[in-house]
This record gives sequence, structure tokens and C-alpha cells, in this order.
Amino acid sequence: MSPVIPIQAESGCSDAPVLRERGQREVFCGLTGIIWLHRKMQDAFFLVVGSRTCAHLIQSAAGVMIFAEPRFATAILDERDLAGLADAQDELDRVVQRLLERRPDIRLLFLVGSCPSEVIKLDLSRAAGRLNQRFSPKVRVLNYSGSGIETTFTQGEDACLAALAPALPAAPTSGEPELMVVGALADVVEDQFRRLFTAMGLPRVSFFPSRSSTTLPAVGPRTQFLLAQPFLGDTARALESRGARRIAAPFPLGAEGSAAWFHAAGAALGVSRSGVDRALAPARQRAVQALSAHRQQLAGKRVFFFPDSQLEIPLARFLARELGMTLIEVGTPYLHRQHLAEELAWLPADTRLSEGQDVERQLDRCRAAQPDLVVCGLGLANPLEAEGMTTKWSIELVFTPIQGFDQAGDLAGLFTRPLHRRQLLAA
Ligand code: SF4
Repeated sequence: MSPVIPIQAESGCSDAPVLRERGQREVFCGLTGIIWLHRKMQDAFFLVVGSRTCAHLIQSAAGVMIFAEPRFATAILDERDLAGLADAQDELDRVVQRLLERRPDIRLLFLVGSCPSEVIKLDLSRAAGRLNQRFSPKVRVLNYSGSGIETTFTQGEDACLAALAPALPAAPTSGEPELMVVGALADVVEDQFRRLFTAMGLPRVSFFPSRSSTTLPAVGPRTQFLLAQPFLGDTARALESRGARRIAAPFPLGAEGSAAWFHAAGAALGVSRSGVDRALAPARQRAVQALSAHRQQLAGKRVFFFPDSQLEIPLARFLARELGMTLIEVGTPYLHRQHLAEELAWLPADTRLSEGQDVERQLDRCRAAQPDLVVCGLGLANPLEAEGMTTKWSIELVFTPIQGFDQAGDLAGLFTRPLHRRQLLAA
């Protein structure tokens, strides 16, 4: 088993120049986050206030649910002038009332803003405040924006959790420090993490978001939080404004990243390094073994990341360090230097980093480089496949449980599969 490499000892891409592009971009909007958030928060409902386009996006991203009672919907706002906005507020109240009468299981309702001009004109925070007064304490009503003008793809989760953070109960101000894991994780991953923290001697860990709005974790000056996702800048700020402190760590992707993430928590909460190692050893060993077969297939292959999910930098670090891939370009919609400091230090020093997008220029760079694998959004994948390139949809990396030791092999498999498929097609 390879040792955990001290993060401070390396500088990698910490000071590397970043190509900043502000041209046309090809990314999903923040509404997409509803797909995984509604699965995680089991008594929450997401009411998108938007257009038919928004309804189509959500429906096609989630798949059509025929038998289940879905926990998201779109209130479609047709074109109206400013004089009609009072009616729109009344209409929204009527829609919410009907929804809550029909669905008594809803305890938390998010009004989710979108980008059509009619919605931008409508003050959703005022609507949420008014509806909250009317329906609380049975139902809490909050709002956030998933608009494509303000958010990309995973920023929808950030906006949602940042809106929820002020509603978390206050933790007592004295006593032992408390650990909070922040970021929506699949239940199976949350359960594995909870077991590992318990084995480390930290049984009192909370997860935000929680599965139920009735068990929201408490937050306060004794809370130390560990981000499980790299796209939660606003959420971190909202928790810090409640007195909580972030534990600096890389993200729990791969054997090495997961080990360093748990070690950071252990160091912050006073668990000895050897105690953490002992608790992690069996899971870490399984992860290293699961990765070895994939490493044979991926080592030396060249990969190009288009910006999409904000997972790009931790994923690139995992592919380079644990699977031996060569990074040509790592694009991210937004680079949060502070939250990604440990990841940047682990990237090979010659990695080309880009932030934002000018899609035509980036496509030119990608074509010139002819990578073995391109990680990109759905809109770019088909045209690039038609040009003979092998692609991986970045959306799959968000919808699939990939965090932690027991998912490390599955995560590597997401990159070996498209290469294998291309080989079969070429045979
Ligand atoms: S929020 Fe904007 S970008 Fe997203 S689906 Fe609706 S109209 Fe399109």
C-alpha cells in the first residue's frame, strides 16, 4: 500500500498560470442538481419556477417517472409584463397550496428560480418568505436560483445548501468539537463514511444535507466541516458565517484522496495518525487492489477535460497520480483556489489549467492534441465521437457514487469503459 503523501511537501500546480476564458460555454444549468438532491433529501420538494425549456431539461435529465410520485415539478410562467407580476405571485401561492394539500409528506419546499425574464422579474425570496410564514412549522419554504445565467451544473447544489444553511439549528457553544461532512453523497457512501469515522473513534459525525429535513445537523463555533464536493463555495461561506470552520483537505476520490480526506478530519479532531491508518487499512487495501487492474489499461493514456461539473481538478489528480494518465488540459467552470489548494498541489506541475470556456477555441486545442479520452458534457460528446474521439460524459461522474475507498474501482471503471468500447468498435 502506498503511503499518504504529505500534501505540504509538494507544490504541483499551486502557482501554475491559469488560462481564463470568458466566451461561449457549453454547460448545464444549476437546475440539474435537483436530480440528485431530491433523491438525497427525502421529504423535500423542488418547485422550479420556469419555462417549458426548464421542464423539459428536468424531465429528460431525471427520466420520465410514471409510477413514482415525483418530488420535483415546474410551475410554468408564461410571458407577462410587470403589471401581471402581482397575479403571478397569487398564482404561485395557489400552486403551492394545491401541491401541499395533495402531498402532506413534503416538509421542505424549495422554490427554484430559472433564467426566463418573467422569472427574473418575480421576487422569489419574497414569495418564499410569505409562503414560509403561511405554512411553517409544518413546511419550511426556501428559495434559490438554478438559473443558467447565474449557475452551472453543480452550482445548483451549492445554491440549495447555501439557502438551507441559515435554517440549521444552532449547536451548543461548549463541549467537544463536532464534525460535519458537507455535500450530497449517495446513501451507500454516507453509510460507509459513517462506519469509517466510527472506526476512527469519531461516532458523532453529521452529514449536510441530511436525508430528512427533520434531522438537519446543528452548526456553531464548535463545528468543523469537511467538504465532500469541490463546488460548495457559497455553502462553505454560509456555514462559516454561523461560526463553523472548514478542514482543509483534498476530496475523497480514489484511495489516496480518500485517505488524505479522512486523515485531515482525524488531525483536526485529535485522532492519532496511526489510529486513522488502522481504521482505514482494510478499505484502503481494497481500493488499491481494485485500482491496479484499471491502472494497466489507463497508464500513459492522454486525457482532456472540458469544464462542466467542477469535479475536474480532483478527478484529474486521481487519474494522474493513481492511474498514471497524462493530463493534457484540465478545464473547470470555476476555480476555487482555496478549496482546491491541496488538489492543485498534487497535480503534475506541467498541467495546463483553464477556467471558464470559449468553446470553439477549446475544441481547437482538443483536436490539435488528439487525446485518448475526452471528459465533457453531453452536448460536446456526440460531435467529438463522430470525429473519432473517445469521450466520457461528465454528468455520469456526478450521478454515480464515486467517493470513498469502496467506489474507487467503479470510478476508474468509468474511464476504462469508453476506451474498451472504442477498442471493440475498432476491432
Ligand atoms: S434555467 Fe435557464 S438554462 Fe436552465 S433550463 Fe431553464 S431556461 Fe434553460
